[in-house]
Amino acid sequence: MEINFKGKNAVVTGAGKGIGRDVAKRLAALGAHVVAISRTQADLDSLKTEVPSIETVAVDLADWAAARTAVAAIPNVDMLVNNAGTNRLDKFLDVKEEDLDLVMDINFKAVFNVAQVVSRQMVDRKSGGAIVNVSSAASYRGLLDHAVYCASKAAVDKLTNVMALELGQYKIRVNSVNPTVALTELGKIAWSDPVKADPMLARIPMGRFLDVVLIGNFFAVRRFSEGYNGRKFRLPGAGGVVR
Ligand code: NDP
Repeated sequence: MEINFKGKNAVVTGAGKGIGRDVAKRLAALGAHVVAISRTQADLDSLKTEVPSIETVAVDLADWAAARTAVAAIPNVDMLVNNAGTNRLDKFLDVKEEDLDLVMDINFKAVFNVAQVVSRQMVDRKSGGAIVNVSSAASYRGLLDHAVYCASKAAVDKLTNVMALELGQYKIRVNSVNPTVALTELGKIAWSDPVKADPMLARIPMGRFLDVVLIGNFFAVRRFSEGYNGRKFRLPGAGGVVR
């Protein structure tokens, strides 16, 4: 199947590093005009050097008002990848309010905020569109020390369901992608220690974590080019389902 996003405008959040960076590059390679949003200007500058056609916007998505203003200024969005995310590991009993707020602000509230602005524009333009919220396998698996992260991603899944239900009538498709571990900067926070990583790897048939390139391909091939709506796409380790 030939995939071509020529003439489509895509926004990717958290595109400075990791999965978002690869998705932005992949969508650009497939012809989309990509606007990459992230927080660290140096990451955006290096992305722009790598792929000059990509436009960049530096904003802290945890800042509700600043994020709304920045996203509202991007015209004619056809595709949104709501990918920016973070994590703070702690035992449930020890989680501090500031960490709870930070993770929920970025992993859930920013996803809600950005999607609301983009969806409103799509509805007003009567253009339809496609939105992918990057959730996690952690939304349906309890993981030690991940109380806030797991809860934030479960919230993203449920938000995705409701958005799909309400926005389908406007020809806006909304899905989530739920990867398991990829050793990005974020992934390394939780999974660098073999004591934690080995039991997780033992549950993945191929015995290795995801490659961000694989995730980028998955997005391009499955999320924006087929007619799914309101689905949760599990993206387990290479080669099979996490048991
Ligand atoms: P990385 O830490 O590698 O990259 C995250 C990107 O998001 C960075 O560019 C970061 O910018 C940006 N970002 C974070 N917070 C903000 C903010 N407040 N405002 C703007 N940009 C922000 O993470 P991954 O690529 O690993 O993760 C991407 C998504 O995939 C996340 O939603 C994550 O939860 C999800 N995921 C990741 C998995 C993994 O194992 N890696 C597994 C399952 C899901 P900066 O560095 O400047 O803050």
